[in-house]
Amino acid sequence: MAGDLHVFWHGDALLHDTGSGVFEHPPLPLLAIPELHPENAVRIRNMKAILERGPLAERIRWRHGRHATSEELGLVHDPEYVKSIREFCAAGGGTLTWSTPVSRDSWEAALAAAGTTLAAADAVLAGETRAAYALVRPPGHHAQPAQADGYCLFSNVALAAEHARRRGVERVAVVDWDVHHGNGTQECFYERSDVLTVSLHMRHGSWGAAHPQTGAPDEVGSGSGAGYNVNVELPPGTGDGGYLRAMGEIVTPVVDRFAPELLLVACGQDANQFDPNGRQCVSMEGFRLLGEAARVLADRHCGGRLVLAQEGGYARTYSAFCLHATLAGVLGAETGLEDPCAYLPDDPGHADPELASVRAALSAYWPL
Ligand SMILES: [Zn+2]
Repeated sequence: MAGDLHVFWHGDALLHDTGSGVFEHPPLPLLAIPELHPENAVRIRNMKAILERGPLAERIRWRHGRHATSEELGLVHDPEYVKSIREFCAAGGGTLTWSTPVSRDSWEAALAAAGTTLAAADAVLAGETRAAYALVRPPGHHAQPAQADGYCLFSNVALAAEHARRRGVERVAVVDWDVHHGNGTQECFYERSDVLTVSLHMRHGSWGAAHPQTGAPDEVGSGSGAGYNVNVELPPGTGDGGYLRAMGEIVTPVVDRFAPELLLVACGQDANQFDPNGRQCVSMEGFRLLGEAARVLADRHCGGRLVLAQEGGYARTYSAFCLHATLAGVLGAETGLEDPCAYLPDDPGHADPELASVRAALSAYWPL
């Protein structure tokens, strides 16, 4: 069935030049060959290629993304912050935070990332498709209302959530399985009960002044938002079994009670077992099952309405395979591809103490 999944793409994603060095750090004369910054255009070109050439190709309809307007960015961002990013890029770019370099053309890429995510949401809200995926960069989930952070300029998924609310969607759930804490999305909705924010992430804590949130389970939201921010902090090496237990034992019951009308997924692949920025050992099959779990939740509560947006995923080859597997899960399909890297053993009990901590933090709000 052609067009089961609408994939939104804008070529300006490739314009964001993050340079090279020792991953996030400047080049060293010790080495002969610099490494690309982890968040580079190559990774997303591989993702586009595998969706065009792989077994899912015949079920995908490619759609044009677009730039966000300044007014749209203002849905969650401070207008002065938006202006400062535009001016910084126009002046030639540089380093926004220690890990977030931008070039002159990063402004166009950032507008395209936000606008293309909004276009994917609009297609689902208009009933053009049940499931849409925005293949975008730079990623968004670390960007706070007035703060760039962790490769992110604008909070693409948060913008889509707020946009959906303004279009009359009563309750929006965001599930973020990027290996890092979705601190920017958390910050946008921390005092609100109409947007449930759930993040599954490796325990990494704050990484600097631009990132005051820690991702700990006791960051549950505040005011009327108390209980509506769920942090599932998982230990390094968690693997497929631990991630799926977190989905089954924490995320699913919370989302079931919240009963969203739209499900957004901050869809990173950096929990994969070969990622330079993660240590979580999730395989293609794990990602397929995460995609399937999202599909089940969207079907149960949202009339199937599901929007995924690309976040991290820095193993240039394996991230593409894991993305393909995720979207196969969303479509209820087998991946049709052998896992080129499957060999690590998996221990589903690995995250027992961490899941107990999340239950304890949320016990006043959700029966888990
Ligand atoms: Zn990440």
